Amino acid sequence: MTGGSQGAGYRPVIGLEVHAQLLTHSKMFCGCDARYSGARPNSHVCPVCLGLPGALPVINRAALEQTLMVATALNCRVPETSRFDRKNYPYPDIPKGYQISQYAAPLGRAGHLDIFHADGPDRVGIIRVHLEEDTGKTMHSVLDGRPVSLVDYNRSGVPLLEIVSEPCIHSPDAARRYFAGLREVLVYLGVNSGDMEEGVLRADVNVSLSRGAHPGAKVEIKNLNSFRAVTRALEFEIDRQAALLEAGGQVAQETRGWDEGQEETVSQRSKEYAEDYRYFPEPDLPALTVSPERVEEIRRTLPELPAARRARYVDSAGLSPYEAEVITQDPALASLFDETLSLQPPGGSKAVANWIMGELLRLLHEAAVPLEASNISPRGLSGLLRLLGDGTITNAQAKIVFARMFETGAEADEIVRREGLAQIADTDELAATVRRVLAENEALVRDYVEKGGKTEGPLIGKVMAATGGRANAALVRELIRSLLSPEATAQ
Ligand code: ZN
Ligand code: MN
Repeated sequence: MTGGSQGAGYRPVIGLEVHAQLLTHSKMFCGCDARYSGARPNSHVCPVCLGLPGALPVINRAALEQTLMVATALNCRVPETSRFDRKNYPYPDIPKGYQISQYAAPLGRAGHLDIFHADGPDRVGIIRVHLEEDTGKTMHSVLDGRPVSLVDYNRSGVPLLEIVSEPCIHSPDAARRYFAGLREVLVYLGVNSGDMEEGVLRADVNVSLSRGAHPGAKVEIKNLNSFRAVTRALEFEIDRQAALLEAGGQVAQETRGWDEGQEETVSQRSKEYAEDYRYFPEPDLPALTVSPERVEEIRRTLPELPAARRARYVDSAGLSPYEAEVITQDPALASLFDETLSLQPPGGSKAVANWIMGELLRLLHEAAVPLEASNISPRGLSGLLRLLGDGTITNAQAKIVFARMFETGAEADEIVRREGLAQIADTDELAATVRRVLAENEALVRDYVEKGGKTEGPLIGKVMAATGGRANAALVRELIRSLLSPEATAQ
């Protein structure tokens, strides 16, 4: 929270409405391909998603199943009967003049999501989870020198999940953490790609400033599709409202947009109320019936969710909360951790975590690719750790092997063989090198002897360099100590 609003005794009250595109093959109410990214405008359309007269919708079963998974994962109650409603509003990107949504009887109610952070979990209440259809996309352009608005209906009718939180969040940072936690759950469930730049996950945030028992007017900021935008827009809005109230003004209940470039919210229109939408039951679709047995079955077959995974990593794999958080941020990373660990001798969790959090994340970041696009497999990483553990390769060599594995997918022992990377752990062979290095570095040796052996680092470094990083460092240290021991130098 910002200094100004806190000083004046205002408390931000924040709620989020998150829209998430579901990962189905076809659209919500027709057979059109829902994967339209990069397609020619208006090439994924049919009479249903264009809203042509007489076209009738058919409910997409996969979208329904995915919504039930989300509702269950978010601890919602799933009523036995739910139904679709028409939400009427006249925008060009809504070809029917209404959106098929759910109003009075959503698929999920009264759930919650626990948000993990350093001080422990925070619980965010979830009012409802419902299923609806996405809109088309309006683009403003210039055609023959005239400004025009064009509409692409490829997105029209793509299944869209809406998740509405309780207004129980009190800081921009907590709002960001909730949004990130929600994204994580959706990605873990495999129902959303989590690809925020593609606009598949968007948040409308509402914020008011209350003072004591007095609630403030609610302002909604629409269509935020990054964590940064959520945080910055809320910070800006809290400051704006606090300054207005402190100057004796009033906050208007309205919908505002977020100007990314100017980093400010701008007034768009006065806020709509439910009655503005003239909701009524969708007459072209039957009511939905979901038996308690079906809900129970879905609950039983849910994959392990990030919060449970983090707890397991801390409680039984011995990772720190921070390590557990980094590794569970991406389900692919967590699977790599689990599967590699299952191939390791007991007690290997720290080593596996270190390689994933260190070298792997570094290389992924450098190459700007997801884990799936790299060649690192549980078997590969496990093979590398085995060679490191039994002393075949040094830590420095292991990094080289790992980088090759990342590029080529070859097995660790194959890379070691091909590149002659095995470490020198032969005492006679190493002793000869150490003797030569000591003879070539008289000043370092003098320093070492004068300081009673406290400056062995540079000498070890010279030997490592002389062997191209292949020497067993522990053995080198031992050899230097014995060759430069008072007994040895006295002779
Ligand atoms: Zn269609
Ligand atoms: Mn909606």
